[in-house]
Amino acid sequence: MSDPNALHPDQHRFKNLTNDQVRRLQKIMDFAVISIDHAIKRLQPMISPPVGCNPAERWNRENYHCWWGEFDAQRSSRTAQLCVTRYQAVKGKLNTSKLRFKLRKEERYTNVAPYWGWRIYLGANFFRSRSLDSLSTLIHELFHLIGLVDLRYSRDACVTLAQTLPILARGNPDNYAYYALDCYRNQLSGASHLAMDDPYCQLARQDHGSIRLPGT
Ligand SMILES: [Zn+2]
Repeated sequence: MSDPNALHPDQHRFKNLTNDQVRRLQKIMDFAVISIDHAIKRLQPMISPPVGCNPAERWNRENYHCWWGEFDAQRSSRTAQLCVTRYQAVKGKLNTSKLRFKLRKEERYTNVAPYWGWRIYLGANFFRSRSLDSLSTLIHELFHLIGLVDLRYSRDACVTLAQTLPILARGNPDNYAYYALDCYRNQLSGASHLAMDDPYCQLARQDHGSIRLPGT
């Protein structure tokens, strides 16, 4: 057995990370893929709604409106297409060994600066955070790697952005991170489940809770 506190042998990909940290990070990467798959699955029917589906009704029932704005007969299917394309691009980043990480213990927060298309700089908080916070952080940073910049942070501000300036919500990393998390959290036992109907997005604005993802 390798020492969990020893530096991971692949220091090219996981700079300054211990074996234990790489194990946790890889679990979170797996959960990121699962969450993104859930988001894609939920968005896909909006691109070309199946026969008998009322897209406006579905848009609201499935809470797309909280993260991407009010239903718009002209725009919503294009929004869904754009989101799916971006989630797929991010998944492509996760599924390659080109994605690299560096731990900066002296920094609290995770970021991608200096910008470099394949590296995420983990802050010390990443390994101290609750599972779902680490998961949303990772998804958030991946969206920087495909070129998105931060416009708003936090659930509350992102939901408000979608209600007021939906065109900007489509470019905001946190909107993608929280949407993916919410698509996934209903599958988790013990998580605070989202009602299917959240007309005022009160649940979407609430903290996602402290459920621990297995192995993290
Ligand atoms: Zn950011």
